[in-house]
Amino acid sequence: ELSLSGQKVLVFGLAKSGVAAIRLLRAHGAQVTALDERDAAALGAVAGELQALGVTLVHGPVPPGLLESQRLIVVSPGVPLARPELRAAREAGVPIWGEIELAWRFLPKVPLFGITGTNGKSTTTALTGELFARGGGRTFVGGNLGRPFSEAALTPDGWDALVVELSSFQLEGIQGMRARGAALLNLTPDHIDRYESHAAYGQAKTRIFLNQAAGDFAVVNVDDPDVVSLARQAKAPLYGFSVTGKPVGALKLEGLAVAQQGGFRLDFLNEAYTLTNRALRGAHNAQNAMAATLLARLGGVPREAVQAGLEGYPGLPHRLESVRVLDGVEWVNDSKATNVDSVLVALRAFPGNLLLIAGGKGKGAPYQPMVDEGRGKVKAVLTIGQDAELLAAAYQGVAPVQACGTLDVAVRRARELAREGDTVLLSPACASYDQFKNFEDRGETFKRLVKAL
Ligand code: ADP
Repeated sequence: ELSLSGQKVLVFGLAKSGVAAIRLLRAHGAQVTALDERDAAALGAVAGELQALGVTLVHGPVPPGLLESQRLIVVSPGVPLARPELRAAREAGVPIWGEIELAWRFLPKVPLFGITGTNGKSTTTALTGELFARGGGRTFVGGNLGRPFSEAALTPDGWDALVVELSSFQLEGIQGMRARGAALLNLTPDHIDRYESHAAYGQAKTRIFLNQAAGDFAVVNVDDPDVVSLARQAKAPLYGFSVTGKPVGALKLEGLAVAQQGGFRLDFLNEAYTLTNRALRGAHNAQNAMAATLLARLGGVPREAVQAGLEGYPGLPHRLESVRVLDGVEWVNDSKATNVDSVLVALRAFPGNLLLIAGGKGKGAPYQPMVDEGRGKVKAVLTIGQDAELLAAAYQGVAPVQACGTLDVAVRRARELAREGDTVLLSPACASYDQFKNFEDRGETFKRLVKAL
């Protein structure tokens, strides 16, 4: 048991997980200093809570010697570990942990099921949590998604399973954290701003396998060549999932999950599952569902609980979220699709008859791939926001485009155009900041407009 009572601990970065780490540290009687670039005024309500907790708040230049004098430094995922301020402390032998590592130190005996990858982390985490909650006992679901992991550590005896979404930044900050089950979903270029290379980003992700040992297991996407090559670093038995049934590259697998008509099967257990839940449509969600099922089955959840969870999973908002069926037309909110790749994934999930609402603050990537993917499937495009003209140009000669300007106009126009059997899909391919606070705000607005029809 980690004893921090009376010890000096510094928390670097006061976002959600940093604040949760402080609550945990204070519950264990640590003497906490909090460091953030923002001052008390900019921190708002958090500053008041920290004061009430007896935390010393430091902003601006780091006082000389402060970091070196700590027993422990806990770094938020937003703070790069390579920052020069941290170097002297590291050289002085002060341990530097991420918030995940800190929380795990209080939970070493509870089996942890970790999920990482570029896309699908939140969906897979929420779904895995659902499966464990139905057949794996008292389940904590959180991490990068929802509740910070430190909240689990406040009641260490309260859990039978920990289902944790882990970003690459969070994985950089682990040292001893051991995953009983570790899933690596996929790897596409992302966060190039913080990583020197695609390889460095991949290396951060493979830390999910770091402390695995006998009795643990790893779950990997064998359709993704980058995942397959990184999976060779896993020491635990490997289980693959695939939509094609043909793993790319050679890996020694203990078992494989393979998509099939209407669901998927686990070859090593000779089990078949049906996948009819609207919240999980599309090949990408079949991958997420196979990963979640492998984690749950290998983690001890009975087969019936897994099948029931696949059916009952309510989905996450703003990800292919079915809002309403009105006069035979389904309205789908995919506001989370803020880039072209996500729109491709959405378009593949539908057979056709789509009215696509897209546009917003574009990210500069070409729209041609989504035009090609939607050929013959997208009946009309309704544009909103800043990138309307670029979208119209891309769709020229492929599908009719109507410039709607705003989302309320687009919804009204879609209502006029849609015929029975059509799907109206908000999958913008753009950020929302030109017209909305964030993608959640855009999705909520869409849902409100659709429900009012
Ligand atoms: P994350 O937490 O990794 O961002 P989400 O589950 O929130 O993942 O999904 C974000 C977006 O990524 C979805 O809207 C969808 O477009 C895409 N996506 C989800 N799952 C996958 C997958 N397995 N492979 C590729 N893309 C996916």
